[in-house]
Amino acid sequence: MKLPICSFDAKIGVLCPKCELKLRNGELTRTDVDISFMLAKLVGKLPLLDKITLKRALEVDGEIVLLLGQGDISLIRSNPGFVEELQTALGRRVWLTEGESDDRKFIESLIFPARVMTMNTVWLPDGSKIMKVNIPGRRTSKFPIDLEKVKRIVKETRGIDLVVRFER
Ligand SMILES: [Zn+2]
Repeated sequence: MKLPICSFDAKIGVLCPKCELKLRNGELTRTDVDISFMLAKLVGKLPLLDKITLKRALEVDGEIVLLLGQGDISLIRSNPGFVEELQTALGRRVWLTEGESDDRKFIESLIFPARVMTMNTVWLPDGSKIMKVNIPGRRTSKFPIDLEKVKRIVKETRGIDLVVRFER
């Protein structure tokens, strides 16, 4: 598995001086390191992890957000059950998206399996960005995604304010 820390460090659970320095100067966060250690331990149990790249990890309200490499989301979706097993192993809800994809794809991965109908970007005079996302259909109590959580994740990772609407 490709991690933001060296694979040797991940294996032994200790950071080398180089990664330690990255952590101290803010290139890596404590969460990046902790989640890297956790995932490295799970590779034996969940071999798909070995094909995945972790770019960054963060925690939002005690839930885990993994920013992955390009192509990783479709790889994971072609392996049903993987996300559930990962969540069980980590004991927490895990959100997955690709760290370097464009805003639309980034948000679509978080909202999956719901679909995005349209997405518009609005720039405010102060330079901040709002994205208006329309989801087809009516919002019911069965809607599977915690949209408030998605909004927080998008704000924390990309600095974008999301406005979600359901449209029929
Ligand atoms: Zn290292």
